[in-house]
Amino acid sequence: MKILVINTGSSSLKYQILNMKDEKLLCKGLVERIGGKDAKIIHKIDGKKHEEVIEIKDHEKALNEVLKLIINNEFGCLKDIKEIVAVGHRVVHGGEKFASSVLITNEVKKALEENIELAPLHNPPNLLGIEAAEKLLPGVPMVGVFDTAFHQTMPPEAYLYPIPYEIYHKYKIRRYGFHGTSHRFVSQRAAEILNKNIKELKIITVHLGNGASIAAIDGGKVIDTSMGFTPLEGVVMGTRSGDIDPSIPIYLIRKGYTPDEVDNILNKKSGMYGLSNYLSNDMRDIREAKSKGDEHCKFAIDVYVYRIAKYIGAYATALGGVDAIIFTAGVGENSTSIRRHVCNRLKIFGVELDQEKNVKLNSSEAIISSENSKVKVLIVPTNEELMIARDTKDIISKRVEA
Ligand code: AMP
Repeated sequence: MKILVINTGSSSLKYQILNMKDEKLLCKGLVERIGGKDAKIIHKIDGKKHEEVIEIKDHEKALNEVLKLIINNEFGCLKDIKEIVAVGHRVVHGGEKFASSVLITNEVKKALEENIELAPLHNPPNLLGIEAAEKLLPGVPMVGVFDTAFHQTMPPEAYLYPIPYEIYHKYKIRRYGFHGTSHRFVSQRAAEILNKNIKELKIITVHLGNGASIAAIDGGKVIDTSMGFTPLEGVVMGTRSGDIDPSIPIYLIRKGYTPDEVDNILNKKSGMYGLSNYLSNDMRDIREAKSKGDEHCKFAIDVYVYRIAKYIGAYATALGGVDAIIFTAGVGENSTSIRRHVCNRLKIFGVELDQEKNVKLNSSEAIISSENSKVKVLIVPTNEELMIARDTKDIISKRVEA
């Protein structure tokens, strides 16, 4: 069973073809700068890379070029496009309506359109990706996998903001949480690695990429997560501030900034980028500058680590204990020092890293806590595409059975 996984952004389209017989990745790639004369396609198969720069006016044309590459004699991974039995789409916002992945129908598309207000930057390109796939692969079933769905199990005390109910009801302002597919994948995988039933585990998943979020997962169900109404809330990210006093944007607007300028500051110029005094949003650059004595970068890392540890402490309380802490995504998987600094602040919970394993097993799937640690600490590389493909396969199989 070959499944195409698509993840569309406003000017980008990422894709993978997976063979679900053995969950093997057959080929993958990325189209960048959709809408421009110099759009770039980077297609990878068996470690080889093929690049093209061409004019791509929209997502449909982008997908059309991708499908051509997928069956290309030299770079392709399929003989015939008909081998694709289903398409799995990453969809950012499922609102309160979707607590799990769904077969895409006209009704589902309508619900996604209704959610555009909640995710104006993400849901429109996701819908464009769905429409392009429907046109180019007619009759092939499509599944929507939502970033928000896994977090829909949060209880009201975690998802309600202490603001008037009329605002929640009128504008649907509540905590939704994002990165759900990643938190779900790594928590399930961690239970497998630990050889435990996930229903018996209290897990804190720490997704530290350019975007970052933390989730508290009790028995396989999310009870709290750090991102909120939008992905801006929570821990410090590459360019996003994470938690700040909610009066700061109001203050800035009263000082003469426009709402768009404030939006831009908090989403694009803050986080590690702002704290490093605009040096970089990339942890590698910041670490290097810190090692050469850059004071801003030292503060950036200190704030980053402090706030992650604070969230983990809060979630250990919310869970009533913690069995395992999982690090994932770009920084979580690759930065030995960030894992070390965070875990050093968690000694009160009995967290103890095996320093050698933390370095030696860097970036691979591994348990990196010491034998004596009361809490298991793991690195689990995330794989959202595989999770999307698994959901797609499950939903399609049920449909066939029915
Ligand atoms: P992601 O969004 O999961 O792709 O993560 C991207 C981020 O991971 C980059 O911006 C870097 O900050 C970080 N990253 C990637 N590789 C490393 C590394 N070897 N050491 C530290 N940080 C890394």
